[in-house]
Amino acid sequence: MDIDFAAKLNLPALEKGWVWLVGAGPGDPGLITALGLQALSQADYILYDALVDETLLALSGAEKIYAGKRAGVRSCKQDEISDLLVKLARDNNRVLRLKGGDPFVFGRGGEEAQALAAAGVPFRIVPGITAGIGGLAYAGIPVTHRDTNHAVTFITGHGIDGKLTQLDWAAVSRGAPTLVLYMARKFAGEITQALLAAGRSPDEPAAIVANAARADQQVIVTTLAGLPAAAENAPALSILVIGENVRLASELSWLAKTTA
Ligand code: SAH
Repeated sequence: MDIDFAAKLNLPALEKGWVWLVGAGPGDPGLITALGLQALSQADYILYDALVDETLLALSGAEKIYAGKRAGVRSCKQDEISDLLVKLARDNNRVLRLKGGDPFVFGRGGEEAQALAAAGVPFRIVPGITAGIGGLAYAGIPVTHRDTNHAVTFITGHGIDGKLTQLDWAAVSRGAPTLVLYMARKFAGEITQALLAAGRSPDEPAAIVANAARADQQVIVTTLAGLPAAAENAPALSILVIGENVRLASELSWLAKTTA
């Protein structure tokens, strides 16, 4: 790979014995950062998760290890991944941990960094474009917009136990003009009910952005009342958005136009 840009940008190198925790962005391989691209060219090992684009992995000659997790077997698997990162670094390898989106946004990057810190392994965090911001941009939905919302709230639909996140949904409903929900498709019905009960309008715009920034991206624009039904038919990999800023999608959607 031509990495002339690395010298020009004065990028630090991925050194032996180090782990870089890197965000690959939500889908489109072009959304990885310059640091991430350089790490692909320098790594001896790449531990990647299920959301990472294959064409990015194909750029690298490193040894590639799939380190995705299935729902329900999280804790044991997570420890194994952290242990492997530590072991590979201690064996003096250049280790790239590549995750979808941003490693610190609902990505367990913090847990892996804690394990590295505890083991005394040097590491660097390379942020990525998170699905709840970049994926929305690919759907023509500005995550904030002056006319519609002065705040945005990122929420995960389910916690470690796989159940609906325990939150004060009434407070969220009152205090969050725009909600961006990860891992929430299965709970769209319960979330909608909680928000309606707390006084949100059934007519409020809502959207599902599925497979965002991928070739098969789908944007389903609906209302809060229509969200549960829309979620039932939506692809699994999806972000839910509730808020007035969703209206802008009709004006600002650009991806179909660029790829047509
Ligand atoms: N760290 C990642 C999020 C990992 S959690 C990030 O910053 O984006 C996994 C959840 O992210 C999925 O269940 C889905 O809600 C969301 N997600 C990730 N990539 C997505 C994509 N391309 N399109 C839609 N949703 C996506």
